Amino acid sequence: DYCEGGYHPVQVGETFKEGRYEVIRKLGWGHFSTVWLSRDNQCGRHVALKVVRSASHYTETALDEIKLLKRIVSANPDHPGKAHVVQLLDSFEHKGPNGTHVCMVFEVLGENLLGLIKRYKHRGIPMALVKQITKQVLLGLDYMHRECEIIHTDLKPENVLIEIGDVEQIVKTYVNNGENKNGSTGSGSDKGDRNGRRRRRTLITGSQPLPSPISTTFTHRHDDLLAQAIGGKSNSQHSLSKMMSSARGSTNGSLTVSPQGRESDDSYNSRERTADAMAREVAGITLDKSGDNESFPDIGIISVKIADLGNACWTNQHFTNDIQTRQYRSPEVFELITGDYLFDPQSGTKYGKDDDHIAQIIELLGAFPRHLCMGGKWSLEIFNRKGELRNIHRLRHWALPDVLREKYHHTPEEAKSIADMLIPMLELNPERRANAGGMSGHDFLKDAAGMEDKKVDVDVGSRGGIDGWACEVKKR
Ligand code: ATP
Ligand code: MG
Ligand code: MG
Repeated sequence: DYCEGGYHPVQVGETFKEGRYEVIRKLGWGHFSTVWLSRDNQCGRHVALKVVRSASHYTETALDEIKLLKRIVSANPDHPGKAHVVQLLDSFEHKGPNGTHVCMVFEVLGENLLGLIKRYKHRGIPMALVKQITKQVLLGLDYMHRECEIIHTDLKPENVLIEIGDVEQIVKTYVNNGENKNGSTGSGSDKGDRNGRRRRRTLITGSQPLPSPISTTFTHRHDDLLAQAIGGKSNSQHSLSKMMSSARGSTNGSLTVSPQGRESDDSYNSRERTADAMAREVAGITLDKSGDNESFPDIGIISVKIADLGNACWTNQHFTNDIQTRQYRSPEVFELITGDYLFDPQSGTKYGKDDDHIAQIIELLGAFPRHLCMGGKWSLEIFNRKGELRNIHRLRHWALPDVLREKYHHTPEEAKSIADMLIPMLELNPERRANAGGMSGHDFLKDAAGMEDKKVDVDVGSRGGIDGWACEVKKR
């Protein structure tokens, strides 16, 4: 990876842009880049410097990413969502032994939401925090959609970073006071989500100090994540889709290697701690010396930002139809369009993974509208002419509010209010799916701490408003 066309071998103390940026330590890395805590000598503050691999494929993608990031910087400063999308500060090129590297400079942020989920041991984070984060993310999305005409296409916990507040103070505490000064180890980024093609990455795990495209076992399922996100009890051994699959008698062992999957707990635990430590400092989380007995006395107001525009596109210019990390993928962008699959489906003796995918969606959300199930390029592989699943006949319907009560032990009232919030966003028909701006005003979020006065002018539950993948479906 550190060869011609690959990563730039960044050294601690190395300077970029004629001495302006001086590298202090590594913050993380991804398939495309390594990211470094650096001092901006011109502005006298610290920044995150992302140094992209030099091969033309990476350079091209990075130049697109910069265009998108610039729109985010320049669009409507009065929109309350702007504060919840990462801001690009500078960009330039840097020549090194492996070629010319596109570099991007960002504000320094802390750990991502998957880290927060793990801190709560996958048992769900407090509802008050869920509401704050949800409202901020929806406002950030609304800003991207309506003000910037950008679709993120890769929203997931790993790509939402927690702000760390007074960066200069924290750098002073954690870096200058000698917590691992050499910067030789780095945290991984979120995982390689998808494979192949332009803008796609190969499988990466976060367990190594340096990037290396090896496989790992992933342990999380979308329903567990859903449970974590809404503060319910989650147990990956008994995940909803697993239970549903096994109810149909599928072979359902442990999850196997999946480029779409998430990293294992192990890989996360072995990470470099700086960004985590910084985020904890800000979140007011205390950590005892052994590091394994964390307590969360009083998490105050935190603020989050949507990050990683590396897969984003314009609402009217879609770079690829192969979008979204599998577990979060909406129906219009998978089998019915591309013949690709969703989630981590299980095959049985009489049905394939695709059948199981669709079956799981139907079990949770009800039947597909006829024009949706019959309108796709691959429809007849999954549905018969009557619009019934070809290969799976016994479905175990389990509606979301019931799942919330029966599996995650929410009270009926809680289950109802959570489902009221989620169902409009899970609408199968993309044209009828609730938009982000409207949902940010939903009753469920009305007491999101610190967000009471943040409003956008979109009706709650209103639909559409951007050219998403629904229009790609129509063009076919
Ligand atoms: P990916 O494979 O996810 O596309 P990438 O090469 O595009 O990776 P990013 O995801 O942008 O890189 O960043 C890699 C990692 O660097 C992040 O997961 C995070 O740990 C760290 N990082 C990125 N930006 C920042 C920032 N502004 N502040 C602190 N850390 C950051
Ligand atoms: Mg990323
Ligand atoms: Mg990226």
